[in-house]
Amino acid sequence: MRVLIGWMCILGVVMTNESFSLNRSVIEKPFVVILMGPPGAGKGTHAKPLAAHLSIPHISTGDLFREHISIQTPLGRKAKTYIDQGKLVPDEVVLDMLFARISLPDCKHGYIFDGFPRTVSQAQALEKRIHNALVIVINLNVSDALLVERISGRLTCKKCGKSYHKKYDPPLLTGQCDVCKDVLYQRDDDKEEILKKRLEVYRSQTRPLIEYYGHQKDVLREIDATLTPGEVFHLVLHAVAVPAQV
Ligand code: ADP
Ligand code: AMP
Repeated sequence: MRVLIGWMCILGVVMTNESFSLNRSVIEKPFVVILMGPPGAGKGTHAKPLAAHLSIPHISTGDLFREHISIQTPLGRKAKTYIDQGKLVPDEVVLDMLFARISLPDCKHGYIFDGFPRTVSQAQALEKRIHNALVIVINLNVSDALLVERISGRLTCKKCGKSYHKKYDPPLLTGQCDVCKDVLYQRDDDKEEILKKRLEVYRSQTRPLIEYYGHQKDVLREIDATLTPGEVFHLVLHAVAVPAQV
């Protein structure tokens, strides 16, 4: 019940809470929010309503790869060999795809990254590319035990990528996305064996980014993501509301 109330709060905060609005008139630079955290931390869950709240696009490298895979592009075929093993896709493949995405006109005022950067070298390449942006990095902290429970219960929409949880956030109709009515499935890489590998990869290759961004002045915001979705989203809104670099 507590979690259900939490999901309703996310919706309520997005629709009603003006006090968290970002004053665009004081920010002339593009606003870039990086949602970081291990698989299952809640990046996708919060990126979608945050994008609606800030009116900037949500860019998930995982979703972009899954789109390429579903329409069987050469990039998709290449990425799949790594994704199926729980490994990271090589930087050059990720960066080409990502930089093409952020060159599109809808990214002019900024965007929310979910799942990028995942290595220090990706972060460095990003910095060179967007040197004049206002960047905020939000790290979603969750214990390993909770991550396994979240990922093993995750259901993903085939069409729009929205995630649900069998126990914490079930769809209205079993097996069907509330938004686009397409089919929900369990991602192959969410199965136990691959998940283990993804968590290892997170610890060795992605977690060092916390220290990397921690050394940059006023960039990193740490959030307790074990709370209910509504409570976490409230903290996320606080984190983006006061851009200290402005
Ligand atoms: P990520 O994008 O970081 O891999 P997701 O946003 O897809 O993670 O969330 C993973 C799973 O956990 C989903 O099934 C989602 O519904 C659920 N979830 C996310 N945040 C919470 C939360 N605060 N409490 C309970 N379940 C959550
Ligand atoms: P996600 O949807 O974020 O959980 O990503 C699913 C998979 O896509 C990951 O396990 C990686 O194999 C791949 N992937 C997504 N983003 C990146 C990235 N920035 N760098 C390398 N691989 C990535």
